[in-house]
Amino acid sequence: KRMEEIVRNAVRTFHDFPSPGILFRDITPILKDPNAFRSAIDLFENHLRTHFPNIDVIAGLDSRGFLFGPSLAQRFDIGFVLIRKKGKLPGLTDTISYSLEYGKAELEIQCDAIQPGQKVIIIDDLLATGGTMFAACELLKRRKAEILECLVLIELKSLEGAQKLKPHSVHSLLQYE
Ligand code: 5GP
Repeated sequence: KRMEEIVRNAVRTFHDFPSPGILFRDITPILKDPNAFRSAIDLFENHLRTHFPNIDVIAGLDSRGFLFGPSLAQRFDIGFVLIRKKGKLPGLTDTISYSLEYGKAELEIQCDAIQPGQKVIIIDDLLATGGTMFAACELLKRRKAEILECLVLIELKSLEGAQKLKPHSVHSLLQYE
């Protein structure tokens, strides 16, 4: 409970960013405060140790999943792989398109990033509609990964992203309406 408060107090809210009417949850103060960052990683670690005895890989979403995933992977002595926006990764890649509120986006993974059957945790900073996480799940399933869970720092409950991700489960450290 105390660690959760420390993390929650390090999230800032901005109105009308990146566009009018949007309430943006800014996680950068967590990174600026070593105690808050350690608390976030501790909470993620405690949760995973309780629920998953075997994790092979942590996969992070571009770009704020990259801020938390590697530190968490170190706690388990496992690797971290990147799921990036299209065009950023060299070598053979697999791509998935998904629709955004306005237009389309694409996510990519290197074909050798995941071995078939590996047990994967996917991490990002925030779950909103779940569109990004859904696309990442589809991409990882195509690579024959076994998805254990979708992990996020913040879940925006009213957007019901977790519903969209079923049957995959979502765990969040903080929930906002
Ligand atoms: P979704 O695809 O679930 O609608 O949106 C989630 C993605 O958008 C995540 O990759 C997340 O980083 C980004 N995102 C959307 N809203 C916010 C927000 O309020 N704060 C932060 N930090 N990221 C957001």
